[in-house]
Amino acid sequence: MSFDAEAKMQFLFALRSKGVTDKAILSTMEKIDRGAFIQGYFRDRAYEDMPLPIACGQTISQPSVVALMTQALRVGPRDKVLEVGTGSGYQAAILSLLARRVYTVDRHRRLVIAAREVFDRLGLANITVFTADGSFGLPDQAPFDRILVTAAAEDPPGPLLAQLKIGGIMVVPVGQSDAVQRLIRVTRTESGFEYDELRPVRFVPLVEGLGKD
Ligand code: SAH
Repeated sequence: MSFDAEAKMQFLFALRSKGVTDKAILSTMEKIDRGAFIQGYFRDRAYEDMPLPIACGQTISQPSVVALMTQALRVGPRDKVLEVGTGSGYQAAILSLLARRVYTVDRHRRLVIAAREVFDRLGLANITVFTADGSFGLPDQAPFDRILVTAAAEDPPGPLLAQLKIGGIMVVPVGQSDAVQRLIRVTRTESGFEYDELRPVRFVPLVEGLGKD
């Protein structure tokens, strides 16, 4: 299915009905074709509001969850953003239209290479993608205004907290990987960190070290 007018209308309707109200975010979701980030059989289902399998046993997140996480992150046009868990690259592409600069990392080289090709094809020049264990963040590029973790951690990783600017925000799913997790928003203040519990979510786990492929 192409990103035709009717599919797009239904897609945007599904997002609004799940609580995505931010106009700038809805407009980026309309512009970025999710089908470009999915290969093979499941591509036909790109505009359904569900997670779908990608290579390396991973998933492209559900569009409404991508939008709600982006909304929770409160991204602005001057922000330097780190995403941990590139996966298909879809979430990074959405962030790239809202932020100044996006760094994204995945532990699977194969996913990183595929995502880089899509970013090049779509002309998304403000995204840099690395193969790395994202639990350690990117010390050379730190600090960040915003950090989005798209894999579930048992706790917000310490190195990521340390790489957040004062006034910066991190959104991270927290909990056991085989259970429903909680989406947490961490705000760094002058004196420490404030935590807000947002909604239940379900993500693949944040795994230590690099993947085999
Ligand atoms: N944001 C993605 C979906 C992420 S799925 C999208 O828009 O498609 C979670 C991703 O996190 C997977 O690709 C997985 O390989 C990656 N991941 C898990 N643990 C990681 C770690 N320690 N460092 C970097 N990436 C990790």
